[in-house]
Amino acid sequence: MLVNMKKILEDAEKGGYAIGCINTPNVETLRAVIGAAEDLNVPIIIDHAQVHDSLIPIEEIGPKMVEYAKKAKVPVCVHLDHGSDYNFVMRAIRCGFTSIMYDLSALPFEENMAKLKEFTKIAHDLDITVEAELGIMTSTEEDSHGGVTTGWTHETIKKTFTDPEQAAEFARNTGVDALAVCFGTAHGIYAEPPILDIERVKAIRKAMPKETRVVMHGGSGVDADQVQAAISAGCSKINYYSYMAKACSKHVYEELEKKNGNAFWHEVQEDAYEFMRRYAREVLTVFKNGK
Ligand SMILES: [Zn+2]
Repeated sequence: MLVNMKKILEDAEKGGYAIGCINTPNVETLRAVIGAAEDLNVPIIIDHAQVHDSLIPIEEIGPKMVEYAKKAKVPVCVHLDHGSDYNFVMRAIRCGFTSIMYDLSALPFEENMAKLKEFTKIAHDLDITVEAELGIMTSTEEDSHGGVTTGWTHETIKKTFTDPEQAAEFARNTGVDALAVCFGTAHGIYAEPPILDIERVKAIRKAMPKETRVVMHGGSGVDADQVQAAISAGCSKINYYSYMAKACSKHVYEELEKKNGNAFWHEVQEDAYEFMRRYAREVLTVFKNGK
């Protein structure tokens, strides 16, 4: 069932669990992620990142995402991840996306806020939910979503932390449905195991309007206990991708080595699909937070 993210995130926060938001840049990942959500009977957010458009254009994968969402047995939100330019956001809307992350976090605070306020009003008239971001989690485009990130240490991550009062002002002013904030995670691969500032999540949750959800990006690579502490502190949407994508490559590589590279491509694809479905099931089980 195709939905936007409003009700599924509202229910998640009330219920003390989080909804997974996973990039699906190919059909195997798309089937695996929706399959895992169906296995556990939980709603899911699937997303296409603007930086993945060089892998597959949104006009090719987007309609497939919408089609799979419609026939899924669980609520599925089709979301744009880190749309950073207006034209791209419009392309997502034309493809039938039900939710948009309009990421203008690279702009000065006031400008980010003014543009998101204007956009959110239009999006809500179209029944499309909106996510924004405060603070910079990436320094370059290549860093995000599976790119090669180096040097994410505790010291460099700390400089990105979100101020709760600023988050509250932004949410009140723009009316966004969800806000990605920084409290210890980063995109891509960590140089040292991340340490989340759970007190900051609580402070952000407390300061923001009740109807705005707190979002964690860079959920890959954070240990389950910390993820669950962040959920209990009020984080109801978690973006996840990099570690699953890397684990799948490693699995495929090992399987091919065992067979001396002797396999049909469709067998490799099917094996990757099965692996990711199992992997995503484990991730989504953590996000259920024991509920
Ligand atoms: Zn992100």
